[in-house]
Amino acid sequence: MKAAILERAGQPLVIDDVTVSNPGPHEVLIRTAACGLCHSDLHFMEGTYPHTMPCVPGHEASGIVEAVGSEVRAVKVGDAVVTCLSSYCGHCEFCVTGRLSLCLGGPTRRRKGAPPRLTRTSDGGAVSQMLNLSAFAEQMLVHEHACVAIDPDMPLDLASVLGCAVTTGAGTVFNLCKVTPGESVVVVGCGGVGLATINAAKIAGAGRIIAADPLPEKRALAMKLGATDVIDPTDPDAARQVVEMTRGGADHAIEAVGRSASADFAVGTIRRGGMATIVGMMPLDQKVGLSAMDLLAGKRLQGSMMGGNRFPVDLPRLVDFYLRGLLDLDTIIAERISLGQINEGFDKMKLGHSARSVIVFGQ
Ligand SMILES: [Zn+2]
Ligand SMILES: [Zn+2]
Repeated sequence: MKAAILERAGQPLVIDDVTVSNPGPHEVLIRTAACGLCHSDLHFMEGTYPHTMPCVPGHEASGIVEAVGSEVRAVKVGDAVVTCLSSYCGHCEFCVTGRLSLCLGGPTRRRKGAPPRLTRTSDGGAVSQMLNLSAFAEQMLVHEHACVAIDPDMPLDLASVLGCAVTTGAGTVFNLCKVTPGESVVVVGCGGVGLATINAAKIAGAGRIIAADPLPEKRALAMKLGATDVIDPTDPDAARQVVEMTRGGADHAIEAVGRSASADFAVGTIRRGGMATIVGMMPLDQKVGLSAMDLLAGKRLQGSMMGGNRFPVDLPRLVDFYLRGLLDLDTIIAERISLGQINEGFDKMKLGHSARSVIVFGQ
């Protein structure tokens, strides 16, 4: 199969032939239909986060099950599926208390020194699977707890973005913030995750939804997805404007960028007792905090690991939201590209102008 390989951080991806193993007892072989380009891929490609190389990135995918291992019960051949990097073991403290996205994966993750599941066809060299998925490839070999079957009526190109961006944004609103009708929500950053967060806040019945992004075209998309107000967070007065609009600050501020400045901005917009949630992946040496006054005002700060998802439950619900016309995935996806255009797609992401690019395979 063809796959996009990351050989070294800072270099473009190389399209090459890769051989995929047969499914082990709990593995599923999936014919990839579509895969979104996510900012987290870029973090690994630029070396901000470490990974064994060569590897195949890509973790926001949909496809059709082609083969299953002898013990697989969760899905069957022919199922339409969405993958998720939050593979869960089902046995650990986090799994049995319903916090699947915190599971360290145990037996569902690749062990160091285990035989490679992907090899380079030309020389047989091992190719590591990023986040146990490696979806920038025509086929994926994943653990059965890393994918979920969805309604076959769901278009697969749109379904792919449910696997990371939408699960993360919507999960943050529904699972972690538990936004209730009428509450005010600030969303900082209007890329794929931010737009999904805005859309989910609208579905949750939030009152004022204030979207913050420096780019006017992204603020326009935010309005389309349900924002009631938009602001430019680079305006030095922006946090004060939010506090005024919400008469004392927002109930929730959700940061979907991954920069300490925008995380501080989020903290600066919440009211007494409000919650700031950091979804973006900040560089590993950066921090965000609460001041003594923030603490005395009962403000809270939390991280979001993939939106606190329980993806086997959440993903089919998100599919229902789309099929009922509540979740606007068509606006979140800016363009569809081929695997061969992957580096151009990431170049566009670096410029920050578009929402989501999705690779559609077989076109
Ligand atoms: Zn992602
Ligand atoms: Zn577990």
